[in-house]
Amino acid sequence: MRFSRRQFLKLAGAGAMCLTLGSFGVNVDEAFAYSKKLKIEGAKEVVSICPFCSVCCQIIAYVQDGKLVATEGDPDFPVNEGALCAKGAALTSMYTDDHRLTKPLYRAPYSDKWEEKSWDWTLDQIARRVKDARDKNFILKNDKGQTVNRLENFFMMGTSHASNEECAVIHQAMRGLGVVHMDHQARV
Ligand code: SF4
Repeated sequence: MRFSRRQFLKLAGAGAMCLTLGSFGVNVDEAFAYSKKLKIEGAKEVVSICPFCSVCCQIIAYVQDGKLVATEGDPDFPVNEGALCAKGAALTSMYTDDHRLTKPLYRAPYSDKWEEKSWDWTLDQIARRVKDARDKNFILKNDKGQTVNRLENFFMMGTSHASNEECAVIHQAMRGLGVVHMDHQARV
């Protein structure tokens, strides 16, 4: 019988747990009963790719009733061999964590409070402010009279939880505006 690396690790992990618990006099049947209650029990395994950088570590996503319940590194994939960095390891929480923002929050100048705003209001505000600032500060030519078409008073800082594809779209949008200063956490 042949085992994949992942199946081997699962069996080895279960075996080690039972041996360890057994040697301490713990009822191993109870341990097995507990393991059956784990949140990935019966979940569908979907192999996917971590979206956060160009290393492209492979992950296994566990899906139950159409919802993501857990993720882990894929031990069978040669690039990451089951390992994930902190961002990849926190992938599940990006979708399921209660602290995840799902609506725009706005803090007015000099205010110490965040207000919940609609997407329409937020996008209108961003568009208006970007347009005004760009019109005011756009540089057509440099000191030598050479055409540069750039904005030097904008800076775009990308979140570490933007995916590769989101970063590509953001980068193109910023370049289209003439923004030359930008940075992002995932520069691997
Ligand atoms: S962010 Fe981390 S886990 Fe994700 S692909 Fe890059 S190195 Fe791998």
